[in-house]
Amino acid sequence: MVPLEGFPARFRSGFVVLWGRPNVGKSTLLNALVGEKTAIVSPKPQTTRNRIVGIVEKPEAQIVLVDTPGIHRPRHQLGNYLVAEAKRCLKEADLILFVVDGSVPPGEEDRLAAGALSEVVPDRSVPVFLVINKKDRLTEGTRAQRKEGYRALIPVQEIVFVSALYGDGLEDLVSSIVPSLPEGPPYYPPGTVMDQPEKFLISERIREAVVHFTREEVPHAVAVLVDDLDQTKEDLVSIRATIYVEKESQKGIIIGEGGRMLKQIGTLARQDLENWFGKKVFLKLWVKVAPNWRKDPMALVRLGYKVRKG
Ligand code: GDP
Ligand code: MG
Repeated sequence: MVPLEGFPARFRSGFVVLWGRPNVGKSTLLNALVGEKTAIVSPKPQTTRNRIVGIVEKPEAQIVLVDTPGIHRPRHQLGNYLVAEAKRCLKEADLILFVVDGSVPPGEEDRLAAGALSEVVPDRSVPVFLVINKKDRLTEGTRAQRKEGYRALIPVQEIVFVSALYGDGLEDLVSSIVPSLPEGPPYYPPGTVMDQPEKFLISERIREAVVHFTREEVPHAVAVLVDDLDQTKEDLVSIRATIYVEKESQKGIIIGEGGRMLKQIGTLARQDLENWFGKKVFLKLWVKVAPNWRKDPMALVRLGYKVRKG
C-alpha cells in the first residue's frame, strides 16, 4: 500500500472546469484527459444538472475535472441561463478551460458563453485557458485566424490547440494546467479507483451540498461515504451515507443547532439526487469524526477508497 504522507512539498491540486457552448468537445476532452480507468460516466447523461468529475493524476499534481452540463436553451434565454449556470459551476473553479471548436469561427453561442464567463470572473481572479479543440480539422492557414477570432472573446492566460478526439496536444495542455493550480494536498486520495461510480457520484452530490452550506469552514475536511444504496424499488431510491470530518468542531458545524444544518444539507442533496435519478429519493445522513482521514491509509480504506498497490 502506498504511504499517503510525503506528497512532494510543492504538490498542487485543484478543480478545473470545462466551459463552452455545446458540441465543442468538452466531454470528449474530459474523457481523453482522464482515460478509461477513472472516467466516471453518468448513468443518466441526459439530465442537465449532471456534472461529471474525472481525476488526472501526476506525480506532482492532481487535477479534478468538472464538465459543465449540456446547455440547450432557446436563444433568447441563453444569456441569462449561462450566467446562472456559470455562477453555479465556476464557484469552486481554480482554473477554467474555455473550450471552443476550432473547425468553425466563433459564433453567437461562443460569445454568450464567453460573456457569462467574464461576468462571473470579471477580474481574472481565476485563470482562463482558451482550448481550441478539433485541431485535426484545421489547416495551417486557418490556425492563426481562429486563434485571433476566439481570443478576442475573452482575455485568457494561455491558448492551447488540441484534438480531444485524436488525443493530440493533451500532454501540453496538462503541463500548462499544473503550474496554474494552487499548492495543496490532493482533494481525493491518490490512487482512488472509481470502483462504484454511481456511489461516488452520489457521495459527490452530498459533498457539494455540504460545501454549499458550510463554505470555507469545513469543505476540505469532508469525505462522504455511501454506506448503502438500494435501487430495488421501482419508484424509490434509498441511500444511507456518512459525512466524515476531521474534528468535533466540524461535526458541530455540519449538524448545526438542533440539527438544522444537516437537515438543509440533506434536503438540498436529496432534491439534487431526485433530479438525477428521476425518482423519489430517501436519504439518511450521519456525521462522524474520523481524525486525519486524509493522511491515514487505513482510514481511507474504511471510508471505501481503494488505495492502489505498489
Ligand atoms: P460537448 O457538448 O462540448 O461536451 O461536446 P462532445 O464532447 O459531446 O463532442 C461533440 C462532437 O464533437 C462529437 O461528435 C465529438 O466526437 C466531436 N469531437 C470532439 N472532439 C473532437 C476533435 O478533437 N476533433 C473532431 N474532429 N471532432 C471532435
Ligand atoms: Mg458534454
